[in-house]
Amino acid sequence: MYNSKSHKAEEFICHEEVLASLNYAEENKNNIDLIDKIIEKAKLRKGLTHREAAVLLDCQIEEKNQEIYALAEQIKKDFYGNRIVMFAPLYLSNYCINGCVYCPYHLKNKHITRKKMTQEEIRRETIALQDMGHKRLALEAGEDPINNPIEYILESIKTIYSVKHKNGAIRRVNVNIAATSVENYKKLNDAGIGTYILFQETYHKDSYEKLHPTGPKHDYAYHTEAMDRAMEGGIDDVGIGVLFGLELYRYEFSALLMHAEHLEATYGVGPHTISVPRIRPADDIDPSTFDNGIDDDTFAKLVACIRISVPYTGMIVSTRESKECRERVLHLGVSQISGGSKTSVGGYAAAEPEEEDSSQFQPNDNRTLDEVVKWLMELGYIPSFCTACYREGRTGDRFMQLLKSGQIQNCCHPNALMTLKEYLEDYASCETSNLGNQLILDEIHNVPNEKIRKIVIENLEKIGNGSRDFRF
Ligand code: SF4
Repeated sequence: MYNSKSHKAEEFICHEEVLASLNYAEENKNNIDLIDKIIEKAKLRKGLTHREAAVLLDCQIEEKNQEIYALAEQIKKDFYGNRIVMFAPLYLSNYCINGCVYCPYHLKNKHITRKKMTQEEIRRETIALQDMGHKRLALEAGEDPINNPIEYILESIKTIYSVKHKNGAIRRVNVNIAATSVENYKKLNDAGIGTYILFQETYHKDSYEKLHPTGPKHDYAYHTEAMDRAMEGGIDDVGIGVLFGLELYRYEFSALLMHAEHLEATYGVGPHTISVPRIRPADDIDPSTFDNGIDDDTFAKLVACIRISVPYTGMIVSTRESKECRERVLHLGVSQISGGSKTSVGGYAAAEPEEEDSSQFQPNDNRTLDEVVKWLMELGYIPSFCTACYREGRTGDRFMQLLKSGQIQNCCHPNALMTLKEYLEDYASCETSNLGNQLILDEIHNVPNEKIRKIVIENLEKIGNGSRDFRF
């Protein structure tokens, strides 16, 4: 029944295979020889199977867990260096016809304020986001064919890309909208989106159907096979994820990796990113009513195990997590974070009045982008506003080749420094700017190729003199 190359959801996320993997992990969680072998395999940096990864996730031996954390940290450094890519969500509309029980946008919620931005409002929000320093957005919208048809999403993308305010520009628009048809994925691809993001919420079919009692999202197969249709529509950067807290995390972890294996086996390229959201309080949502919440230690272990299982896949943590928790998982594998986020429809250009709350969840990290940027640099990271790969056509397997070739230090690293310099020139506070300029001076020596280093130094100078948008 289990077939990673099948196009049927219940075959590539085979329930029996998940259960068998969980049993295998339970039986072997104290099997030191096997755990050592799996860790040795992970050190080759070619990833692990979902079964092997499940054993490490269950491993109860403290010493081995410390080895797993150390390896996750090392793999992250090897593939991603010390760069952290920045982005912000932009909610276009919270109209939704689905009945998801964990989301305040569900149809039966008559309490929450419903909003849908006009193109003029989107333009104002884009200017506000540019004025913060953002270059990369994740568009969010509920599922509603009347209020949020694909034409509305496409028009919004066009509006966002068209806004050029002062030195600002949104250079990459990722899109997180409901599962749709191949035809619509083609349209999104033609509109120049970056990553298509869709969270599975839960891979457990029975739970999925209970958690999505009404609306088109109730269809487990249609939702689970969405990435196949996206690939068919030409989108080769896809982002997957689970909403942790809905089902048993061990189940979700194995199934999530099976989904990654399916994409790799079928299309030759795994997911571009994996997100690991946890349920947060929202309008009529109380996370304590869900039985499967996970604590911070389990969350950290999940991140570390994902990092060593799929070394080439970026990992995203949003403002659902606190500053402390984000710091912990940055070390263990996270490569992208949001900053200064608003989770309401609009809210960047002007704060939303409290009585008009339209947010999808309450953020756990309410710092400004400048505060987040400064904090990252204090921790030794380079905040990166780079969007070069997608603009240079390095998507899908071409992006993976870059990662695997070890040329990151000659490509992503300089791009991170140049886009950080733009941020410092145009948007940073004085303190952040001083810290950043020193960081750039220190980090420039870590560009191994002498010729490239020379070009970077010249470009940094040009950015200081007003030029923008250099990239490798
Ligand atoms: S999770 Fe998405 S589909 Fe479900 S109610 Fe919220 S916005 Fe609608």
